[in-house]
Amino acid sequence: MPTRALSTAGEDAVLDALARQGEPAWRARQIQAAIWQPFVGDFDELLQLPATLRRALAAEFAFSTVSIATELLADGGETIKLLCRLGDGQTIETVAMETPARADSRRRSTVCVSSQVGCAVGCPFCATGHMGLRRNCTAAEIVDQVRAACRALHSRGMGPATHIVYMGMGEPLANVPATLESLRSLTEDAGISARRITVSTSGVVPGIEQLAASGMPVTLAVSLHAATDELRNRLVPINRTYPLGKVLDTACRYAEQSGRRISFEWCLIGGVNDSIEQAEGLRDLARRAQAHINVIPMNRIDGSPWGPPEPEVARRFLGALRGARVTVRDTRGGDADAACGQLRADLEARRILRPDGTLSPPRVPARA
Ligand code: SF4
Repeated sequence: MPTRALSTAGEDAVLDALARQGEPAWRARQIQAAIWQPFVGDFDELLQLPATLRRALAAEFAFSTVSIATELLADGGETIKLLCRLGDGQTIETVAMETPARADSRRRSTVCVSSQVGCAVGCPFCATGHMGLRRNCTAAEIVDQVRAACRALHSRGMGPATHIVYMGMGEPLANVPATLESLRSLTEDAGISARRITVSTSGVVPGIEQLAASGMPVTLAVSLHAATDELRNRLVPINRTYPLGKVLDTACRYAEQSGRRISFEWCLIGGVNDSIEQAEGLRDLARRAQAHINVIPMNRIDGSPWGPPEPEVARRFLGALRGARVTVRDTRGGDADAACGQLRADLEARRILRPDGTLSPPRVPARA
């Protein structure tokens, strides 16, 4: 089984393989284009290449580093949640969301990728945080999630992907080398504009600085969830290492250097961070940073006493944000274990997901 990933192998590696097969260099462009064709799932389907070359490439490169363990649909088929199996049997979640064109906006297809298997940050409201960190994803595993999601969208008459968000399992800026390499591949190889890519962080200050130094003008989203250090220490434990003031200063510098408006993510949790004081604190921080606020009502997860606030409390919270730029994000995929890590956690708890990433067959009820 080849371990070298085609999606991040680079042009030189492909040219080298072509030269060894006595094939012309222009085939590298053919192969590069084919990587991103959403209707191609394996080397066998690259019918524009000679069969001997297809076999040689398959022996040297992995066409994809992810395979689909299971696929769930939600929101009337406009949200596709994928459980992706990696080469070592680990599983991660990827979500593709189609938003049809409206009178005031164009169609968009957003792919949400995971950057780690699990996460060390340990936010108590997050199913992935409950897993702990198993390992980092490679750049190819991040890129190949996008390719798998594009294929899933295409097979249902949707896509291609217009926007990418690093908001799945894991903290992308705790895995900077793979995050930066995957960003390079998505922007240069797949041609997705950096302005349509969002990297979300819980506030890893050195990671934000490295992202700024990369010069790729992606949007930075800071998962704030609390407007005071006292509450944030509980909700986003990395705040004890990188407190709010330091995160905000670094995020503001990122906005200046990249020319991109930053956004603050706020998972709204009933009785925890839905007070008027927290809303006013958030509004003031957003003014200072000229940030956009995304409020996401919490998805319930098994084993957590927390959930979304009562509608009246949520209305008062949003009212206190008046004057700030605010979007209330719909919790897409609510009927498909939408919160990150939830699908994997649910399948593990029901003992359907085996340690090697395969799924147990459904149980056949015993005959009476
Ligand atoms: S919310 Fe994000 S940073 Fe926090 S534990 Fe979950 S994946 Fe990690």
